[in-house]
Amino acid sequence: MKNIAILGSSGSIGLQTIDVVKRFPDRFRVIGLAVHRNIKVLEEQIAELKPKMVVIADEQVASGVKKNYSGVEVLPGMEGLESLAAHPEVDIVINALVGSVGLRPTLSALKAGKALALANKESMVAGGAIVKRMRNEGGATILPVDSEHNAIFQCLAGEKQDEVKRLIITASGGPFRGRTFKELESVTVEEALAHPRWTMGPKITIDSATLMNKGLEVIEAHWLFDIPYEKIDVLVHPQSIIHSMVEFEDGSIKAHLGQTDMRIPIQYALSYPDRLDSPLPPLDFIELGKLTFEAPDTKNFPCLGYAFEAIRLGKTYPAVLNVANEEAVAAFLDKKIKFTDISDIVQAVMDKHMPEDETDLGIILEVEDWARAEARQIINLKRGGSKSFIS
Ligand code: MG
Repeated sequence: MKNIAILGSSGSIGLQTIDVVKRFPDRFRVIGLAVHRNIKVLEEQIAELKPKMVVIADEQVASGVKKNYSGVEVLPGMEGLESLAAHPEVDIVINALVGSVGLRPTLSALKAGKALALANKESMVAGGAIVKRMRNEGGATILPVDSEHNAIFQCLAGEKQDEVKRLIITASGGPFRGRTFKELESVTVEEALAHPRWTMGPKITIDSATLMNKGLEVIEAHWLFDIPYEKIDVLVHPQSIIHSMVEFEDGSIKAHLGQTDMRIPIQYALSYPDRLDSPLPPLDFIELGKLTFEAPDTKNFPCLGYAFEAIRLGKTYPAVLNVANEEAVAAFLDKKIKFTDISDIVQAVMDKHMPEDETDLGIILEVEDWARAEARQIINLKRGGSKSFIS
């Protein structure tokens, strides 16, 4: 029996994790849940899963909860997230938080020697150097939940690190593949949220539409698999059947294929090193007919290029890229800025950044605060300058 803590249990990955857990009640037990502020879903999950500990990350919402959930410890805020990630009875921590807020709980889980099923790529982008160091020092295991990284993890099983020639991360291209930057200026939030292949939360769905998601994944892969960014390629594959590939020294390429359903990588991260059965239908190659490939379009989707630039420059640039993007995406979802403003804001904040050494958590958190403030300032300027756009 594996005891599981789910950070971000009301989000898309959290709900799909619970789906998987419920299919194998004799293997997995949820003992901790954490939500940002969705009390309604949390209460349903408490009634159904009977955890020992829950965390409400939004302290204001947490202080407003007067109810007593019998037998359940309720903790607020970041400290609550860190305590749950290090809880002595937890075997696996699923970090499915959204955004840079995931970094401290990730470090807490690694420090406590937990198996960390990582769906929060932002923690790897912002603090990759620290995460890597803590994983190596503490001997903790990181099991990637992101479908591409889960695929690469499976392709690398039994292989030698120094025989890897290249990682090929596949991308669907998002809902706006083939459009020009000019055409992208007028796309709506609703159009951007309609991802052609994957069911995901709003933040990652917008990141998929700008291709920033793929950029964050390149940085995540660099730290997770200890591969230089020059050996990581992005390949657009609209059917999303190949979830990623690894090329080796002898020219052999291993690919991971499967249905586009996040419950597969989630389940593998939970069951690793075992494989459990799946309720999904088998992949029908005849029905699929063909798999196609094309180069990513970094001219009209500049965010992917900015992510490569951030990892090339190193230091605190990836943390800045990540937070500026987070603020810009939130503003787009709130209909305060245009879709194409997202990449402009990321570039502007990166241009102003004076990089620092990224091996200290305090420095990363400071730099994130700076980048957040800069991004908000630009967002306010853009808002003032384009009133007609706001409906
Ligand atoms: Mg992914």
